Amino acid sequence: MADDPVSALTATTATRKMVAAEECDRSTASTSTTAAGVVRLPPAKHCGRIPERGGLPLPAPAMTSSSASRSLEIPLAATVGTRATNRTDDVRVIQKRLAELGFPVKADGVFRPEVSRYLKIFASMCAGREQWTDLADKVAANNDLGRALFHKDAPRWVEVAPGGPGWVSIDRDGYNWGAAKTLEVVDKAGQRYQKYLDKQASGSGVRIMVNDISRKQGTVLAKGKGIPEHQTHRNGLDIDLRLPKKGGDAVQQIGTHVGWADYDRDTMFVMIEAFASQPEVERILFNDPKLLERAKRESKPWADKLVLDNEHIHHAHVDIVPPRLER
Ligand SMILES: [Zn+2]
Repeated sequence: MADDPVSALTATTATRKMVAAEECDRSTASTSTTAAGVVRLPPAKHCGRIPERGGLPLPAPAMTSSSASRSLEIPLAATVGTRATNRTDDVRVIQKRLAELGFPVKADGVFRPEVSRYLKIFASMCAGREQWTDLADKVAANNDLGRALFHKDAPRWVEVAPGGPGWVSIDRDGYNWGAAKTLEVVDKAGQRYQKYLDKQASGSGVRIMVNDISRKQGTVLAKGKGIPEHQTHRNGLDIDLRLPKKGGDAVQQIGTHVGWADYDRDTMFVMIEAFASQPEVERILFNDPKLLERAKRESKPWADKLVLDNEHIHHAHVDIVPPRLER
């Protein structure tokens, strides 16, 4: 486990940028034109590999020390997990705790695959790992997963609201679940952006369009030939944002593309800043070199969080730092 999770994350930033440039150097998502001549954008999905985040060693959550214990009592007599003791009472304790944290689990005392699934998603949320299927799901009163699960600040799994000040959820295919902290970031970004909107003498009132976060079961849909449409978006720590159009409506269902004339770069800059200036935002993948140049020219302290990535031309992908749980 890293002694200092923040340092660990910072140290991996340069590596991740190199990986991003190498792995995502491929053709960008295609557009299509209908018989009526209307150009349609493809869905805001990741069409290829996305660079793995640095994250933290597993299964340990990012715990820091403090004089007061932040852990709740862990009422387990033995272990719970795929290859664990799984006493009925213990399994029920874990199921109830998962349900308290927002996971759709029934407390019947039987260790089912869904219990393993949600334990792994939980571990993935704590560690910031993009993939969770290979994570350990064994919970004990004295291991990191147990301490994180029963921590009073344990991350919660919550459904995305339809919208709030300055933002709207445009998700229509079920990617509307995430870590509670992720949604706090969206709310804060929306409020900041709304202040900008309020100062405009006139304007379209375009809100931040939040697209995919994660699905309730932490899975991703399959596209052609069973290829997953996302390589990430499994642990509630990823947010996709659509691009605003010049003179767009307050709620735009589709958005636009960095290379198109109706792309409103100035407004996107404000939206990006609303997210990137928050300490909980680790990085933003977005292929708009002009926007990045402006951020550097204006010496924005968050400019280093922007990563140019060829696959992100009609949406930006925001990564949230995993939670830090104090022991
Ligand atoms: Zn994304």
